Amino acid sequence: MNEGIIRTVIFALTLFCFGFLEASFAYRKRVMSRKDRWPSNIGIVFIDTFLVRLVYPMGAVGIAYYCEANNYGIFNWINLSYWPSIILTIIFMDLIIYGQHVLTHKINFLWKLHQVHHSDRDLDFTSALRFHPIEIIFSMMVKTMAISIIGASPKGILVFEIILSSMAIFNHSNLYLPAPLEKIIRYVFVTPQMHIIHHSEEQFESDTNFGFNLSIWDRLFGTYTDKWKSSKVIGQRAFQREADQKLLHLLKQPFL
Ligand SMILES: [Zn+2]
Repeated sequence: MNEGIIRTVIFALTLFCFGFLEASFAYRKRVMSRKDRWPSNIGIVFIDTFLVRLVYPMGAVGIAYYCEANNYGIFNWINLSYWPSIILTIIFMDLIIYGQHVLTHKINFLWKLHQVHHSDRDLDFTSALRFHPIEIIFSMMVKTMAISIIGASPKGILVFEIILSSMAIFNHSNLYLPAPLEKIIRYVFVTPQMHIIHHSEEQFESDTNFGFNLSIWDRLFGTYTDKWKSSKVIGQRAFQREADQKLLHLLKQPFL
């Protein structure tokens, strides 16, 4: 099966699965109704996908295949064997995505783009889809650079892309993991209870817990927060009106 199809099928199944779990076991009460958020959060992912196909028709996996065929990048130079190159690609790309996420909070223009994700007043599995198209293109540029420098394994990139989108859906979801289980998982992986702190309207909290997959980067670089200490409000103070959640507004938001 074609890699693009594999990714799309797993992505759709993950969305369906978490949509179902949230419908059955939602944890927090909603601040806004689904009909006021979902059309925007779901609409923007179609625009993002269309734009990435247009600008990067090869996709991240295609770029890795290109590097492999042309012997670009460290893993190709040192002829790293199959499994180590897959595993190291996944770990290295996760570190890159962590670093990119920190940058989007620290550099003003990038923060304006990334704020579209943070201005969601609620958090559920659809929040994982809500990124401004220009931020998605920026992310593809970062990935392209990282893939060509290390000569990433194409299979590793495919697996990483699947893990990244599935984990983003998981850690934005409105689900509650029992405390003892959650504590064990978060030693290694990011959990919804950990990521929600990153969506606090208080900057001292949103500037922590940047990880998407592995929780080790936050611990390693001192950006880890254990508990939500503020008044537990999700979103951004500047974008509290219902009109701020409309799709057209999200597209314009970074330039206002
Ligand atoms: Zn963020």
